[in-house]
Amino acid sequence: MERNIRTHAIVLSVRKYGELHKAVTLLCRDLGMVDAIIYGGRKGKKTALAPLFSVNNALLYLNPVKKEYSLVEAQSTFIPQAIADDLPLTYTASFFCEIIAKAASDEPDEAFDLLSASLERLESSPELRKRITISFIWKLMQISGTAPDLSGCPVCDRNLSDDEVMLFSTSLLTPCCKSCSDSENLILMPGSRRYLRYSMPMELNQAIDIELNPAAENRILSYMLRWAQVFSQTNLRTLKDLSLFLS
Ligand SMILES: [Zn+2]
Repeated sequence: MERNIRTHAIVLSVRKYGELHKAVTLLCRDLGMVDAIIYGGRKGKKTALAPLFSVNNALLYLNPVKKEYSLVEAQSTFIPQAIADDLPLTYTASFFCEIIAKAASDEPDEAFDLLSASLERLESSPELRKRITISFIWKLMQISGTAPDLSGCPVCDRNLSDDEVMLFSTSLLTPCCKSCSDSENLILMPGSRRYLRYSMPMELNQAIDIELNPAAENRILSYMLRWAQVFSQTNLRTLKDLSLFLS
C-alpha cells in the first residue's frame, strides 16, 4: 500500500489533538472522508496549515501500523477570508460541511467539486448566501441520486399539473402528491416547485444566478433546509445555528 498520498482536500473541521497537535476531517476528491492528524499543528509555522474550509493540494502519510493518516503538507488553492470574518457565512459553510460529510458516497469527486464551488461562491458573493444554500442542497440531492424530477408523483407516477401543491412522504423521503403523502410538514408550493424544476439541469453557478424575490427566496430556503434535515436522516448540529440568521 502507498504510504504517501497526494490528493485534493477540503478541510471540513479542525479540532485540538493533545496539547501540540491538531486533527482535521478532510473531504478528499479521490479518497472521500479522511481524518488526519497535523503533528505539531498547534505551534509555529504549522498553525497556518490547512485552515477551516480551505481547499488544498495535500500530502497525506498513512501510518501502516497505526492505520492513521497524518497531513504532512498542504498548499491551499482557496483560503476563506470573508467567510471566516462573518458569523452567518461561517455557519453557512459549517452547514455545507456537515451535511456533505453525512451524504458522502463512494464517488466523492462530485461532492468535492460541489463543495469547493459553493465555498468559493460564498466567499465571492456573500450577499447571495441564501441562493447559494438553496442551490447547494438541491445539487447535493441530485448527485446523491435522491432528487425526484418533480414533474409527477414519484410514488404513484401520476403527472402533476403546474399549479398542484406537493406534500411529503416521510417513509420514502420524497415530495409526493397529496394522496401518497403521510406528512403535511413539508409543503412544496407550485412556484417553488417550478423554480426547482427549472434550475435542476443547470450548473451550480447558473442556478445561483436565477433571481428570486425575497419572499420566494425565503420560502424555498426554508423548505430546502427542512428537506435537508429529513434527507440527512440525522440531527444536523449546524442547522440550528443557521436558522438563527434566516428570519
Ligand atoms: Zn402520488
